[in-house]
Amino acid sequence: MTLLNIVDLNISLPTTSGIVTASNGISLEIGQGETHCLIGESGCGKTIVALAIMRLLPVNAKISGKIFLNGVNLFSLSNKEMRQIRREQIAMIFEQPQSCLNPVFSVGSQIAEAVKIRDKCSAKASKEKALELMRNVQIPDSHKRYHHYPHEYSGGMAQRAMIAMAMALRPALLIADEPTTSLDVTIQAQIMELIKDLVVQFNTSLFLITHDLEAAFSMCGHVSIMYAGFIMEKGTVENIIKSPKHPYTKALLSTISSEYSSPVRGMPPELTKLPAGCVFHPRCSNAMPVCSKIDPQMEKGVRCHLTMKI
Ligand code: SF4
Repeated sequence: MTLLNIVDLNISLPTTSGIVTASNGISLEIGQGETHCLIGESGCGKTIVALAIMRLLPVNAKISGKIFLNGVNLFSLSNKEMRQIRREQIAMIFEQPQSCLNPVFSVGSQIAEAVKIRDKCSAKASKEKALELMRNVQIPDSHKRYHHYPHEYSGGMAQRAMIAMAMALRPALLIADEPTTSLDVTIQAQIMELIKDLVVQFNTSLFLITHDLEAAFSMCGHVSIMYAGFIMEKGTVENIIKSPKHPYTKALLSTISSEYSSPVRGMPPELTKLPAGCVFHPRCSNAMPVCSKIDPQMEKGVRCHLTMKI
């Protein structure tokens, strides 16, 4: 059963350097309990898609398309209804966990608050549950740490606290936006394991946003490859690894597998100045004359003139 359905999402944001076109006709589905990864280079618009799901985009953003959660179009909800969805059905973990914790409350009390919201229980019971969650995510010395403030937590500990909060909410959907990028390499695998546990324990759907192919492939069953605001290819991780179709996907895979020897050359375009035709054509080693003129459509999970001809 489909949990999240993004349909033809277009987002542009006016900035001082021009209009940023961050999402171009993005469509993707995530089933209940499914794990889906959005992969792309930094600055390709991945986070904008996550913020659109949370309805946390700046007010001057121009948005069209629909995002359904359990069949409800999130764009049709009032702010109050959306706040309730954010409290009860969607949790998000960000790259900088400390900035997501409220600096004036102890970390433990913030986890307890999440428990209280979800379970509507007493202060005593929510504190007990918060302590249990802190132990589950391996925050050592949880009784002492409960009273510490976010600035007293390391990045890895703060991310564990964010995961504990997500566990407290038992969300239908967890959005994890580059959850380990700012962390020590030794901590990264532990945090990914905790996210995996959460997903399995509560049958939560995962929408993982990352530039790290190996992490994505080890965590997720489905993948969408994003470039300059467009989804270039999507499918199961198994099919994408076994038989990638899009030249950009192959170029990305060449960074982790010697089977593909076409590393991507040049730099991605600025989102304020997207090239005409296929946005990837200035960097594509398979580009044909048509590629700089006509934007290919997504067909059978691939957006490329090469596959459209087959
Ligand atoms: Fe390359 Fe053309 Fe396919 Fe774009 S449409 S990825 S430029 S072959």
